Amino acid sequence: KENEMVKALREAKKNQSGRNIFDSIVEKQIKVDVLYEDDHCMAFKDVNPQAPTHFLVIPKTRIQMLEQATDEHESILGKLLLTAKRLANERLPNGYRVVINNGPEGCQSVYYLHVHVIGGRQLTWPPG
Ligand code: 5GP
Repeated sequence: KENEMVKALREAKKNQSGRNIFDSIVEKQIKVDVLYEDDHCMAFKDVNPQAPTHFLVIPKTRIQMLEQATDEHESILGKLLLTAKRLANERLPNGYRVVINNGPEGCQSVYYLHVHVIGGRQLTWPPG
């Protein structure tokens, strides 16, 4: 039986130009707590934090998911990680976790590539 996540992925793949909530965030139609922004990427607090610090770093031009990244995205993928690192270094001196969820079994719920940065408590491994 097809679950909701698989349906969402199928929809997302069918409609690669389909907008979602992160497009609206980039376009400032939805208000978020912005931590950093430049011409290429944006970082903001997650609305449903999984730890005392939980923010997301996204490209300003949508890539649906890591799976769809290509060589042309090499530079933006580097920028996302370096931005995550820089913001984390300022806020989380004792360590943190960087996560990209990809696809239904990877627990991706928003089909707009985003890097999670999570920390501010002792994390455990493996994640559930
Ligand atoms: P995913 O499960 O796709 O890896 O993560 C999506 C993340 O986006 C979730 O952690 C969720 O809490 C966050 N999120 C979804 N909608 C919004 C929103 O409108 N504002 C903010 N700040 N975060 C959101």
